[in-house]
Amino acid sequence: MQPAATTHLNTPLAVVAGLTAPVLKMLAGEGFDTVESLLMYFPARHEDRRRMEFKGFSPSETAVCHHVRIVKTKVLRFGRRGGVFEATVEGAVQNPMHQQLTLRWFNMIYMQRALAVDMELIVYGKIKEGKTRLMMDHPEYEIIAGGEDDEGGAGIHTGRMVPVYRLRGGLKQKPLRVAVWRVLQNFDLSAVPDLLPAPKVGGEFAGLSRGRVIGDFHYPAEQQNLDLARRYLALEEFYIMQLRVLRRRRQFLQHGGTAHLAEGALLGKFVSALPFEFTEAQRRCLEEIRGDMALPSPMNRLLHGDVGSGKTVVALAAALLAIESGYQAALMAPTQILAEQHFQNARKWLEPLGVRVVLRTGERTEDGFTTVDAENPELSLGKSLNPSVLSVSSVVGPQLFIGTHALLYDSVSMPRLGLAVIDEQHKFGVAQRARLIAHGRAPDVLVMTATPIPRTLKLTLYGDLDVSTIDERPKERGKTITAVRTVKKLDEVTKFVLKQIEGGRQCFIVYPLIDESEKLDAGAAKAGFAEWTKKLAPHVVGLMHGRMDGAEKESVMRGFRAGEIKALVSTTVIEVGVDVPNATVMLVFNAERFGLAQIHQLRGRIGRGAHTSYAVLFVPEKDAEAKERLRILEESSDGFVIAEEDLRRRGPGDVLGHAQSGQAPLQFGEMLADTRLLTLARRLAERTLSGDGELKKPGHAALRSLVGEGDAPVGMMQ
Ligand code: ADP
Ligand code: MG
Repeated sequence: MQPAATTHLNTPLAVVAGLTAPVLKMLAGEGFDTVESLLMYFPARHEDRRRMEFKGFSPSETAVCHHVRIVKTKVLRFGRRGGVFEATVEGAVQNPMHQQLTLRWFNMIYMQRALAVDMELIVYGKIKEGKTRLMMDHPEYEIIAGGEDDEGGAGIHTGRMVPVYRLRGGLKQKPLRVAVWRVLQNFDLSAVPDLLPAPKVGGEFAGLSRGRVIGDFHYPAEQQNLDLARRYLALEEFYIMQLRVLRRRRQFLQHGGTAHLAEGALLGKFVSALPFEFTEAQRRCLEEIRGDMALPSPMNRLLHGDVGSGKTVVALAAALLAIESGYQAALMAPTQILAEQHFQNARKWLEPLGVRVVLRTGERTEDGFTTVDAENPELSLGKSLNPSVLSVSSVVGPQLFIGTHALLYDSVSMPRLGLAVIDEQHKFGVAQRARLIAHGRAPDVLVMTATPIPRTLKLTLYGDLDVSTIDERPKERGKTITAVRTVKKLDEVTKFVLKQIEGGRQCFIVYPLIDESEKLDAGAAKAGFAEWTKKLAPHVVGLMHGRMDGAEKESVMRGFRAGEIKALVSTTVIEVGVDVPNATVMLVFNAERFGLAQIHQLRGRIGRGAHTSYAVLFVPEKDAEAKERLRILEESSDGFVIAEEDLRRRGPGDVLGHAQSGQAPLQFGEMLADTRLLTLARRLAERTLSGDGELKKPGHAALRSLVGEGDAPVGMMQ
């Protein structure tokens, strides 16, 4: 966390009573210089050392505390450097049997300088039984009488809920624990201002303050104090996150936008010329988009729909609204292959309506952006073009630009960009959006994703976007049947694939990412390619992997789309967006290496035509866990259900990936478990900002410095 600007939490540790010079030095070495920096270093976990055992020593599986007195010490040396320090102890309070216990420290013979006969200790550890004696190895201990313990005092390391800190650099557990303890004793936490809005959030948090909670999180009296402190801090964390998200949203809306006021004549023609009817969900989403686009403030919307739900046509419909309103539209895909695919569809559907569509394939170069219009060179706009010439009432030249995200850098040829559609892109964010804002005017932005996002995550990942969800699949679709199989069934499956190909269908054969290494990855696919070329002869088999260049991939893809290539062996490069309705079979090898959501995305490549489709997921014979885990894919075709299951099994970090969630891991909050807190935080943040949109009130100073100026990366908006 950043230091809060105006609270006395900024107090240097050096002026806090009770911290010795060596301890200050240790702390300074790891960057702890203020009270805040230390108190914000929260324990990784706690150990419950409250259980004191008074009834003598006995072996046990759980660690407990004993109050003991040292009766004998001994050093046993092994060789020059090795050795054991042993301290024999008896119970200090009651010890009717004169029972003894040996404490042992291996390779720590310097312990002889710390411990001596007659000292009283509290020790914490597990007792085990040797041949002739009871022993406790490397116990946690605390000297409570008869000695100087420069590592603390009574009641810090034992006999209570004890914090355990993550150690780094020169930090040592006991002195760190003591330092935090001393700060909590000598520093007035009641003066720490609350970040959460007053009046107090109430409910379970009534009567709590930030200062109290910080103390409790280090040294809780009881487990329940710890639980409550964690929840309070989680609420605070969510609150700050939501303030960021909501402020960013407000700032975005302050840019001038474009009111697209088309009557929709072009859109009407488009819809009636399509070979299918919009689903109810597509219609609803388009209306939502249209409502936003008609407003003068910039649209900031996520179009969310399972694979194959038909997002692209909705996006093209939106583009027509922009075009009819006299603006340009851009559709950005994550890969060339997808850009090309969009281009083909857009041309097929839009050129008959008189819309000028271009495909931009180009690279960003040192001296700017070179655009090459692959299909219509006569429409290419050079860099020399003077934008002011175009800033007249209607667009000359291309109206719809299709390309990869490199289009973002091509503001020159899109001076009247009214709508930017970003397909399958998880990392579109503040910086990218800034690129689109020309002369202070922001185009409407529509981000499309098929990543199934549970409701709870939507609030955090996409909290500054409005969301439209296509929650219905087009009707005249064949079903996709999914089966988990072991490789023993390969021959049978091969026969089936041949039959499908002979019936005119096509097939995807997917090999997994191995080791995050594209090389190995390509290797597995290459081997598979050789094998399948033999097995499926004389039918043509294609190969595609990440190490091929764009042109190679595109030519393979073209062959597959045209139906010349019957089976496409590939790595996961085909994962997103590829649309070949005639492909009805997908084999996935080593399916156990994939996440559920990822396989769901993959199999979305089939089942796009009228025929029934088949996904076969191969797992190793022995991997019972994988078989069980993948079963949900046989049972459900609902991306949301699958995503929830994935989350349940792996946690949100894994499912979304750090890059994708683009968000520092939460310290206190748990996305799934703390939904209620998250929702509460959202409400509180809305309330705060409605009273003080810029967080300029004096009482919000600390909050303001934590929230930042609103351009700090959060969530997907990185
Ligand atoms: P995705 O949501 O995965 O991007 P696409 O937009 O690529 O889905 O659509 C998948 C396929 O379904 C395309 O071939 C598209 O033309 C077709 N499609 C879209 N909407 C409908 C519909 N309402 N009825 C039938 N087919 C549709
Ligand atoms: Mg798509």
